[in-house]
Amino acid sequence: MSTADPVHDVLEPRDVLLGRTTHVRRLLPHKVRRTVGAWCFLDHYGPDDIKEVGGMWVPPHPHTGLQTVTWLFEGLGRHTDSLGSDQLIRPGQLNVMTAGHGICHAEVSPDDAPQHLHGVQLWVALPDEHRDSAPTDFTHLAELPTFTDGGAQVTVMVGSLAGHTSPAPAYSPLVGAELRLDPGATITLPVESGWEHAVLAVDRPLRVEDAPLERHRLSHLGQGRSTLTVEAPEGGIALLLGGEPFGEQMVMWWNFIGRSHEEIVEQREAWNGSGVDDVPERFGQVLGFDGPRLLAPPLPNTRLKAR
Ligand code: MN
Repeated sequence: MSTADPVHDVLEPRDVLLGRTTHVRRLLPHKVRRTVGAWCFLDHYGPDDIKEVGGMWVPPHPHTGLQTVTWLFEGLGRHTDSLGSDQLIRPGQLNVMTAGHGICHAEVSPDDAPQHLHGVQLWVALPDEHRDSAPTDFTHLAELPTFTDGGAQVTVMVGSLAGHTSPAPAYSPLVGAELRLDPGATITLPVESGWEHAVLAVDRPLRVEDAPLERHRLSHLGQGRSTLTVEAPEGGIALLLGGEPFGEQMVMWWNFIGRSHEEIVEQREAWNGSGVDDVPERFGQVLGFDGPRLLAPPLPNTRLKAR
């Protein structure tokens, strides 16, 4: 489906159960619009009372061909991976892991985490020249560029916005930003007209480009806009995503991104090996995790198709 013109497609989340108790609202990929630039995956979760639902507990699992981007609105998270990283993350900070050829990681709520957990898990598809690189990069950014305008505080997570540039590693032209809006705030941001953009209403209803957007929904705005206006009558948080349309064929399955059915089969076999006690050479292992790694489920009986 072409996104060459401005649109205003409101995408509804679908409920997905992760692990035993964690429910997330999945907004990308979506049957109406698969991607926003190279942003190809968006799960929004919480705010959850972790004393009731048990906190985050995602055992070691692999990734290929993508970057994971982790952002919290509330709470505390702990990331460990096969590069040896062990990193706490708090609201206002960013974790970016570049998977390339293969990496694995785990994400849990530490024992001393505060009561509420609220955040997003995003993936960025890597273009061909970077998708098979050796996995060498995990980046934690404790501070990011911020600015205030029109009653909003803007934090630039990835890329550039209004002259403010994040140092996060990126391999295609894209932007990601958090907007914290006071009640009655209206902010107009300059954006690239050749890029696709989308806005998530995180916790309150917003108006985006003069149209209402209920909370927990994503407005896909297509291309062809040189400014973006977000209004927050009640205040609230917005997540802005944008990027150059990602033109490469992509096959997404489980935690893998490849270019063909055969690549995914190969990645799945390399991860699962002969069982949970194997240490898969391609992906390494998360040291110090108290529990087994997550094996990939069976493939469907039909061939996986490119999006
Ligand atoms: Mn992951």
